[in-house]
Amino acid sequence: MRMLSVGGNELTHSDGGAMEQKGKVNIFEKTMANMTYVQIEKAAREGTIVLFPVGVIEEHGPHLPLAVDVYGSYIQSRMVQSELEKKGIESLIAPPFYWGINMATGSFGGSFTCREETMISVLSDAMASLKNWGFNHVFFINHHLDGGHTKALDKAIRRARMEIGVGAYWIMDQLVAKRLGFKEDETHLLIHKSLMPSGPPPLYLDLHAEGYETSLMWHYLPELVNLEVLRELKPTNLTMKDLLVWRKGGMEARKITPQGYFGDPSTANPDVGKEKIETYGSVVAEVIEAFLQGRYSAA
Ligand SMILES: [Zn+2]
Repeated sequence: MRMLSVGGNELTHSDGGAMEQKGKVNIFEKTMANMTYVQIEKAAREGTIVLFPVGVIEEHGPHLPLAVDVYGSYIQSRMVQSELEKKGIESLIAPPFYWGINMATGSFGGSFTCREETMISVLSDAMASLKNWGFNHVFFINHHLDGGHTKALDKAIRRARMEIGVGAYWIMDQLVAKRLGFKEDETHLLIHKSLMPSGPPPLYLDLHAEGYETSLMWHYLPELVNLEVLRELKPTNLTMKDLLVWRKGGMEARKITPQGYFGDPSTANPDVGKEKIETYGSVVAEVIEAFLQGRYSAA
């Protein structure tokens, strides 16, 4: 096991504005939740855009905490915000959403799940609130790819656009869009070039609480990663066939991933976690900038 220093967990690209409290991530820091109404109203008047992090509280194996996807979407949003700032584009981050849908991992303790209608209602009401205060551009940054969850998020954005007329968009990786069956020309999607490995999917899939999620947590929240347990974890060596069963959830899914992870957490490396999040920030900020300047086209 590597003994790497994990001190540098700032949420901006190694420049100013680092985390005030080193080693701790506070999901309200630099979000709307820590601002005053005066600041919010001023930002709306100035046409500021909103980044909306979406995650869930869900089991992530025996080595990671339940909130990985919440931290993930929050850290991604912070990174995008910092990159947008360099381009002169001001943004606010909405309080991270985390009462989503967990089908695949629903049989594990801690995987909170809600009904589709609940998630759609809460999210579209949140968008209606933003619209009422004068915000016109809302960009969703989602870290959770459970089928039920992505379907509900899609419906929420469509509903809010249609019923409230809010300019809501879902930032999506090209390969993820393809796998989830989304068309590139959907007006509510902003598709960026894929940050996932290209080529055909490998025989053994790496999907949940695996190397990437472990790397991300290890870099930004090392105190929440159980390295002793991580050291003992073996790759699951699961294939597409297993994925189809896993997706449906219940005890069948639990049998496939008895320890709650799907993939190989042992490939985790905190430096990779940092690098991937920083690349995400640059790529997504570019897509948002292109969109705001009217020159976006799907990747
Ligand atoms: Zn996750």
